[in-house]
Amino acid sequence: MTAQLSNIHTIGVLGAGQMGAGIAQVAAQAEYDVLLADISLERAEAGRAKIAKSLARRVEKGKLDGSVRDAIVGRITPVGNLEGLAKANFVVEAATENIELKKKLFRELDKALPAGVVLGTNTSSISITLLAAETSRPELVVGMHFMNPVPVMKLVEIIRGLQTADATYETTLALAKRMGKTTITSKDCPGFIVNRILIPLINEACFALQEGLGTPEDIDTGIRLGLNHPMGPLALADLIGLDTCLAIADVLHRELGDDKYRAANILRMHVAAGWHGRKTGRGFYDYSKGK
Ligand code: NAD
Repeated sequence: MTAQLSNIHTIGVLGAGQMGAGIAQVAAQAEYDVLLADISLERAEAGRAKIAKSLARRVEKGKLDGSVRDAIVGRITPVGNLEGLAKANFVVEAATENIELKKKLFRELDKALPAGVVLGTNTSSISITLLAAETSRPELVVGMHFMNPVPVMKLVEIIRGLQTADATYETTLALAKRMGKTTITSKDCPGFIVNRILIPLINEACFALQEGLGTPEDIDTGIRLGLNHPMGPLALADLIGLDTCLAIADVLHRELGDDKYRAANILRMHVAAGWHGRKTGRGFYDYSKGK
């Protein structure tokens, strides 16, 4: 069965963390009904509450009408498990970056969703071809890689697996555009285009910190003002999540087989300590006082 934009009315998002919530928001803003799932109803509801809070700030600043905010939030229905996505016409998986977890979720999505439904993934680094091979519909599996924060960042990187059908790819491109995004297309290669370049930069900043070249502030200010980046690499790593950065670095190292991609020990140790960045209140910087 081929995918078509006109058949998509309800979008399922699996994983209601920072990316899943953002994807649910832009889908609802594009007037799709959204089913938002996580491992429990509480987590899915927390994802929707985060969207409502960030939209409320825009209403307070006079940038968004209260009734528009209510309509966006009203289109999002939290559900407590993957089976709750059964009525979706297009799914974007945005759960934790872990190969074994995503393989299992793709097997389960394949069982739970009717034939013909596209199964997209927001993975930062994991092979689309590999995830597609877990399903009975590999031609309907595609990479749809949003950037963080999703409502703000314009780019969506679309990745075709070896088996992705032309119609699946075209529908995903059209859907991203309907959500107001600009697209690029990447070959299915570890890290795709954006993270193949970004994660080595972040990792090198970690090595610089580990070797005592400067403080986190020195390193970040150097890259912000010296290279005109809007954020320094350590602050950006804290925003992405250090657990996610490490998971991507490990995929690059393992799959590309080159030691230049090995993760800096300081990154691994921060993750081991539970210092995952903004989402845990501490990473390379301390966010406990709300900074
Ligand atoms: P996150 O830690 O904020 O959220 C992950 C969510 O997945 C959590 O809510 C967790 O409960 C949920 N989850 C875990 N296991 C699950 C399961 N079995 N079923 C349903 N939900 C489950 O992580 P995130 O930053 O939102 O990243 C999600 C995905 O997006 C990852 O693949 C990541 O690589 C990718 N991504 C992240 C960024 C970024 O900047 N953080 C950018 C682009 C893509």
